[in-house]
Amino acid sequence: MSAVRVRFAPSPTGYLHVGGARTALFNWLLARKCGGTFILRIEDTDVERSTRESVDAILQGMEWLGLDWDEGPFYQSDNFPLYKEHVRKLLDAGKAYKCYCTAEELDARRELAMKEGRKPKYDGTCRERGDAPEGAPYVVRFRAPQGGEVAFDDLIKGRIAFPAEELDDLIIQRTDGTPTYNFCVVIDDAVMRITTVIRGDDHVNNTPRQIQLYQALGYPVPQFAHVPMILGSDKARLSKRHGATSVIAYRDMGYLPEALMNYLVRLGWSHGDDEIFSREEMIEKFDIGNVGRSASVFNPEKLNWLNAHYIKTGDPERLADLLLPHLSSRGVSTLNGPRLVDVVTTLQERAQTLEEMADRALFYYSAPTSYDEAALAKFDKDHLTAVYTIVAGKLSTAGEASAAGYDQIFKDICTENGWKMPQVGQPVRIALSGGTQAPGIGEIVQALGRDESIRRILAAAAFLSGE
Ligand code: GLU
Repeated sequence: MSAVRVRFAPSPTGYLHVGGARTALFNWLLARKCGGTFILRIEDTDVERSTRESVDAILQGMEWLGLDWDEGPFYQSDNFPLYKEHVRKLLDAGKAYKCYCTAEELDARRELAMKEGRKPKYDGTCRERGDAPEGAPYVVRFRAPQGGEVAFDDLIKGRIAFPAEELDDLIIQRTDGTPTYNFCVVIDDAVMRITTVIRGDDHVNNTPRQIQLYQALGYPVPQFAHVPMILGSDKARLSKRHGATSVIAYRDMGYLPEALMNYLVRLGWSHGDDEIFSREEMIEKFDIGNVGRSASVFNPEKLNWLNAHYIKTGDPERLADLLLPHLSSRGVSTLNGPRLVDVVTTLQERAQTLEEMADRALFYYSAPTSYDEAALAKFDKDHLTAVYTIVAGKLSTAGEASAAGYDQIFKDICTENGWKMPQVGQPVRIALSGGTQAPGIGEIVQALGRDESIRRILAAAAFLSGE
């Protein structure tokens, strides 16, 4: 195992959304590429907003995508003693101090600073304070080094520098004794020996404060890679307004995990003009340095295109398993009727999602109860009756055949009766499926079975004659 250690550190305040999943993916790819370690850490210090349901939803999303972690999940809420110990360490070293300023005092000073056109930051009142008001509530502040700048070489964004004077004396422990977010992140990343922090660029402003904390504690500073945001088509940050953002919602809408993974990896990262990446190829070709600096726009059409690709090229047995819940949710049982894998084979070429495939599969499991009247009306009634009679007869005398074998039978029927293929194909398709949006007729007959096909054709004939 190489020394590379990365982590995905979601806050369990909602489901796993596509932005989080992409961050997880980039971390996972780096770990897998280097033979490193991918750690899952649940940042649940915000007890008000963190929920067990959200943790479960995040784990479920990652498992569905196949983003397997090597260590964890670790929970920050289990680490309070560790954070306390580090607060103590900083206090003892004089690198942190107790601040007794009240909220009112801070507000008043902030207002004054604003009025005088100064940047509102903590003014350091308690930095050198000698007295300790007995029993008064306090927060613990980090004594941020003054002067100079804090800089780092971001693996994606390049060098980023902040003047130290812009960095407040960060509160690391609240009056109730609980540690604050930026502090916990540093302690965990340090103790977990994280080498590379890959996260959303909404955290860029936290990084200089965190670097100061690493240095004050004598821990090595990891490398940072801040991944640009994902935007909706209107260039606003991707949100529910733009449609589904939860990974599991994509599963339920009939997307394949490999399609979403492939989509996400290309969202901000590129390798030449390549679009299709298997898991192995992603791992082989991924380079965090090739992630673009600008935000990416979420493009549902491209996701659909990739999904269609993976459905088309997918293993029918596996697709059948994945399709099953989409059929169950439609009240369809596949116990009576053609083998689902045969059905899938007839639909792979045409479906963009498993939801669409499920809709198109319905007719296989229940004979049409009505027919597309407009489509039937394109044909003369006598012609339809003749087609149904002749096809039913021919199929009855023919043996079981392959899809191609049945297609040949239909071709022969055309030749023998002087018909063109659509003159037979459309009426038969309508009889078998109720409509015209269906696979090739040879394929349908093969999947449906010869006997059921004959039954349906005779039923259509009966419908025409008003029986
Ligand atoms: N918990 C943070 C979030 O969900 C991630 C923090 C980090 O990666 O450093 O945005």
